[in-house]
Amino acid sequence: MRFLSTRGSAGGASLEDAIQHALAPDGGLYVPETLPRLDASALPAGDNLPDIATAVLVPFFEGSTLADALPQIARDALNFPAPVVSLGAQRDASVLELYHGPTAAFKDFGARFLGAGVEHLRPVPELDIPERTILCATSGDTGSAVAAAFHGRARTRVIVLYPAGGVSARQEQQLTCWGGNVEALRVRGTFDDCQRLAKAAFADTRLSAEHGLASANSINLGRLLPQMSYYASASLTHSRATGRRPSFIVPTGNLGNALACVWARALGLPIDDIVLATNANRTIPDFLATGAYEPRPSIATLASAMDVGDPSNMARLLAFAGDAAGVRRCVRAQSVDDAAIREEIAGTCRESGRIACPHTATALHVLRTMPEDERAGRDWIVVATAHPAKFERIIEPIIGRTVEVPATLAALLDRPAHATDIEPRLEALAAILRRNPPGGAA
Ligand SMILES: *Cc1c(COP(=O)(O)O)cnc(C)c1O
Repeated sequence: MRFLSTRGSAGGASLEDAIQHALAPDGGLYVPETLPRLDASALPAGDNLPDIATAVLVPFFEGSTLADALPQIARDALNFPAPVVSLGAQRDASVLELYHGPTAAFKDFGARFLGAGVEHLRPVPELDIPERTILCATSGDTGSAVAAAFHGRARTRVIVLYPAGGVSARQEQQLTCWGGNVEALRVRGTFDDCQRLAKAAFADTRLSAEHGLASANSINLGRLLPQMSYYASASLTHSRATGRRPSFIVPTGNLGNALACVWARALGLPIDDIVLATNANRTIPDFLATGAYEPRPSIATLASAMDVGDPSNMARLLAFAGDAAGVRRCVRAQSVDDAAIREEIAGTCRESGRIACPHTATALHVLRTMPEDERAGRDWIVVATAHPAKFERIIEPIIGRTVEVPATLAALLDRPAHATDIEPRLEALAAILRRNPPGGAA
């Protein structure tokens, strides 16, 4: 398959190109040339994620040098479960838990898949680059998932940019605990500043070529595509068991997770409604209400991994849906403020004993407040994007007890941490890039 730019002017790119380069040459984002229709009944039975991922992704890998490696990439990367569990008292609802990977957030799926995929890319001899530099702006969970996924990989250096004061203490620990080929840069600014900085570096063709810059953000197609796998697995399992298509409520920031759900449905997977839950950053709900897309600076909320004022995958959703009316036919969206997030964490814990992270709480709140005529007659799956132990400082005072830390997370919390402070300016980042990585990327 070929991949086109959302800006439409560039010719088609190969999967390798789309994975290797952050953006299309015209500055747009890569999207699949077509979304082929799959025969859902021919997809593998059971909930073996690597098998389902392979079956769903085959058409996207067709004609690529990575095609033969797809089953191996899927097995390497998707080596942890994505269970759907019932939401206690509410019979029409369950939760898709996407936080059983190494850094306890859904971004592990895409990051690990990309890491495994990049390892299979051919070297780039014509550029004579001794190593590739993965440059990653993060509002918290992306950076740690990417660092974990690429840590120790040969010929790859990882630079993570995160906003000073914009991530939780445990998130920061997970960004800064790696060493070796991973460097954490604490940027004096917001997440939007970090994203701007990364975009500026990629757009600087000299800098980009000099360091073999590659993106691992949610704009990278190599992260988006595998995220369809858990929607495939959850929807197939549900529809085979009940004869009904589930609807999903997806906590949304940059729209990467939700877009994978939209694409999965377009492939023919048995998915009914898709509802986006945002925090107080209302760009998407406002766009759906008014039809005018108005990006704005992000505001800080309890669900900080969703603090996005200009969702980077909006261009892809628009490319898919055509225009505002098309997007409205495709998804609904609701904004949930911090007070409601707090109430939801307390309420869910009281009613079902389930402890939700602030991001997951936005989706639970959308379900709780959904008008009866929209809710009734559908089977709802709320997407849980992170383990609550990552946000214990927010959650523990609300529920009045400690959140148990999963073993994988506990191991990361014990490692020594290091970050370098920088100003949100390209020269500052360029200076770091030109410096040899501290641990040396073997
Ligand atoms: C990144 C993230 C989100 C938002 O996902 P997008 O793909 O950016 O919409 C939601 N919850 C958590 C925990 C995250 O880390």
